[in-house]
Amino acid sequence: MFDKILIANRGEIALRVIRACREMGIQSVAVHSTADSDAMHVRMADESVCIGPPSSTESYLSIPAIISACEVTGAQAIHPGYGFLSENANFVQIVEDHGLTFIGPSAEHIRIMGDKITAKETARNLGIPVVPGSEGGVPDLAAAKQIGADFGYPVIIKATAGGGGRGMQVARSDAEMERAFQTARSEAKAAFGNDEVYIEKYLQKPRHIELQVFGDGKGVGIHLGERDCSLQRRHQKVFEEAPGPSISPEERARIGKICADAVATMGYRGAGTIEFLYEDGEFYFIEMNTRLQVEHPVTEAIFGVDLVREQIRVAEGLPMSFGQDDLSINGHAIEVRINAEKLPNFAPCPGRITQYHAPGGLGVRMDSALYDGYSIPPYYDSLIGKLIVHGRDRPEALARLNRALGELIVDGVDTTVPLFHALLQEPDIQSGNYNIHWLERWLETNL
Ligand code: ADP
Repeated sequence: MFDKILIANRGEIALRVIRACREMGIQSVAVHSTADSDAMHVRMADESVCIGPPSSTESYLSIPAIISACEVTGAQAIHPGYGFLSENANFVQIVEDHGLTFIGPSAEHIRIMGDKITAKETARNLGIPVVPGSEGGVPDLAAAKQIGADFGYPVIIKATAGGGGRGMQVARSDAEMERAFQTARSEAKAAFGNDEVYIEKYLQKPRHIELQVFGDGKGVGIHLGERDCSLQRRHQKVFEEAPGPSISPEERARIGKICADAVATMGYRGAGTIEFLYEDGEFYFIEMNTRLQVEHPVTEAIFGVDLVREQIRVAEGLPMSFGQDDLSINGHAIEVRINAEKLPNFAPCPGRITQYHAPGGLGVRMDSALYDGYSIPPYYDSLIGKLIVHGRDRPEALARLNRALGELIVDGVDTTVPLFHALLQEPDIQSGNYNIHWLERWLETNL
């Protein structure tokens, strides 16, 4: 059993992991940059180590600094949170080479899923339905145009090494292909240092439905239903809910079993998310994320489980504390991402928090590292909190979200809270009738 875990992250997710450690009787070690000396994760952990200057590359992404922090403090395992080094197979290898435990999947599974072409191929071989498209990378414009002709326009050109919604371009006709293909390649090169791209049929009105999966690394695989994360701006999620308002129990059972079986066959260890686009009753795999997701709390709410605790358990070699038959859905949960951003352009808005008050009451969870007087540094992402509500059904969850947003006070910086107040007035949001394009269209006319 671990006595001490180092958390290679910051912000709300570092707090999330510290909380799980404390409940399990495990000591926690925070790491931080010089810009985060006063951050809440540093205050809340049992110990802390400064690992470098503000720039992420020299601190939260610095593998030698993080390994040294483990050695200095005697931490036996590392929880990576999300982002930063969480899906870096090389990091996992180095952690293991130092006799430490990475709380997450094997380096090999991270590598397979980190390359989207290999991921799609693996998914297809495991019996998971995938989006129709090119077989592997598309070498040149002529090949790209051929695929456009074969599958029919529109198509989407995506970076093999992609992530965070970058390096994606839609081509609606043969004439548009040249520009789209070259732009996607140069964006991919700039963002990921790899200009390989592949092409998929562009689905016109899908929902983004993702399955939470979990494996013990020894052949047990389970699923914890789906989350609907269709409300996106620039391919970034802003509002997530579980269960998905458009998914029937039969569909959930069918796709859930496919995903759970895939995880079991792979011998996958820990938490993972299999992402699909869903249109006209069909699921199409787009990618697998080999980490805990930002939006994991909605799944925790409806199943009443602690996913971080399970991650730690299976990393220790213990069995999971529940099986598929122990799981059933209770009610409905919604998460909204509160970012320090100024509307209508969503420009990052770092600065000093003059007053912070978190909402509370029945069915309300606020995961945030804010406090009165805290200064949000300008170096990292703009997520400052996640408000998660849980109700007996979707209407109750929506009413609770409205109520909780009204209680929340974040003074001193602009936030995305007004966006959610406005969205809750929309009939389509109230009825759950939206797809991946809904929010972009709404923003064009409403903000
Ligand atoms: P990333 O890893 O950069 O987040 P994803 O492959 O997960 O990229 O896709 C992100 C989002 O882009 C999806 O949620 C969806 O909104 C859109 N998208 C991706 N592939 C397609 C497609 N084939 N058709 C339509 N939209 C797509």
